[in-house]
Amino acid sequence: MTSCIFCKIYKAKEGVIYENKFFYAQFDAFPVSPGHAEVIPIRHVTSFLELTEKEWMSLKSTISKVIEIIEKTNLKELYEKFLQDPLNEKSEQFCKKMLTHIGIEKKPDGYNIGVNEGEAAGRTIDHLHIHIIPRYSGDVKDYVGGIRHVIPGMGNYRK
Ligand SMILES: [Zn+2]
Repeated sequence: MTSCIFCKIYKAKEGVIYENKFFYAQFDAFPVSPGHAEVIPIRHVTSFLELTEKEWMSLKSTISKVIEIIEKTNLKELYEKFLQDPLNEKSEQFCKKMLTHIGIEKKPDGYNIGVNEGEAAGRTIDHLHIHIIPRYSGDVKDYVGGIRHVIPGMGNYRK
């Protein structure tokens, strides 16, 4: 698919931080936390459910490898580099925010790993991508529930 941004990125190899037979990875240009990366199947598929058994099997080691890369990357340098040639104004805002983030010079304390499966779930690019979102102790006030916070007010089921 030539019009697909994720197919284009892979073809141009721009910003590709890892690749294997089935997947590639990049740092998100609109990071929600320092080190936010995406694992993307090389094959153009829209849905998580379209992955083949072989791709599924490879996903675990791919995610492990990408987490290893996130933890080895100097994230301050990464966003300083992003800011030298920002993708657009919004990306610039997001990357600037990272430089003052509580976790910018730390190793992540946890991860949210997830897929926006379908438009209703927030998918904006129709090429599957698995978000790897590093989390840092103290990065939000109310962390209980994690991804449950995609519905505002419904995250913390203990309160
Ligand atoms: Zn694509």
